[in-house]
Amino acid sequence: MAVPTITLNNGVAIPQLGFGVFQIEPENTEKAVLEALSAGYRHIDTAQMYGNEKQVGEALASSDLQRSDVFVTSKLNNGFHRPDDARRAMDQTLADLGTDHVDLFLVHWPLPTRYDGDYVSTWKVMEEFAADGRARSVGVSNFQVDHLERLAKECDVVPAVNQVEVHPYFTNEAVRAYGSEHGIATEAWSPIAQGGVLKDEVITEIADRVGKSTAQVTLAWHIARGDIIFPKSVTPERVRANFDIFDVGLTAEDVERITALDKGEDGRTGPHPDTFDMIPG
Ligand code: NDP
Repeated sequence: MAVPTITLNNGVAIPQLGFGVFQIEPENTEKAVLEALSAGYRHIDTAQMYGNEKQVGEALASSDLQRSDVFVTSKLNNGFHRPDDARRAMDQTLADLGTDHVDLFLVHWPLPTRYDGDYVSTWKVMEEFAADGRARSVGVSNFQVDHLERLAKECDVVPAVNQVEVHPYFTNEAVRAYGSEHGIATEAWSPIAQGGVLKDEVITEIADRVGKSTAQVTLAWHIARGDIIFPKSVTPERVRANFDIFDVGLTAEDVERITALDKGEDGRTGPHPDTFDMIPG
């Protein structure tokens, strides 16, 4: 079954299912991405912080696909929020990926406690990338509602996406709701909570009934809620299984039951965007 696309607020279509490469070692990345492309994925989510953009680029070059066949996302690293640093970092991303544009470029973290709390000038450089074509779309990641409100007040371009932690134990509803009210698509990172939801009783019961794995049911739940996902795996059978989720047949009640597993802040696995301030190196 074909992967559905979501139309972003600038008219660009993004495949709702992609492949994430966080925590894939550079030496394993080309093989993993080629595996994903051969399973049918046409959307790859990488970042400067992951240190594997070059190997993603090598996979794209050695596949028999055209550049335009694959939707490629990367993200501005935390050390490069100042405008000139961001411009240089973007050029490095394009060189490493071996392309003249990315399909989507994100501010990886807002870092409200760094750079005098100034993520606005960073966003204005992102607007520049969208205007000059180095990015077909620009967006943010790990932005809370107040961060998005500030961009709305002080900038021109509305982010196309906000990539945030979302999974059954952390459904992140307020951030998702702000996005859907303002034309910002939600991308759900760690969609299976890095495996943390796979033994859940409710998800297991639903998986047994529909004859799919708990990972497939969880990924199908995200798709039913309209979020964009890119599960990561270096295990070829899982890479293929995670792509085979469009016939899972969840009922509205299944979706509600999984959503009700939310534990609020207790379910968050990653850093809190209001306080996270890590700068690599
Ligand atoms: P995921 O929720 O995708 O989980 C990945 C883990 O689950 C791996 O350990 C993988 O193991 C395992 N796994 C994958 N599929 C299955 C399966 N079918 N059955 C059992 N286990 C499985 O976590 P990620 O944190 O990687 O999130 C996905 C992507 O989101 C990242 O790769 C990245 O692109 C993005 N991300 C963005 C962040 C941001 O700040 N913007 C933060 C975190 C992630 P194995 O590989 O060994 O098979």
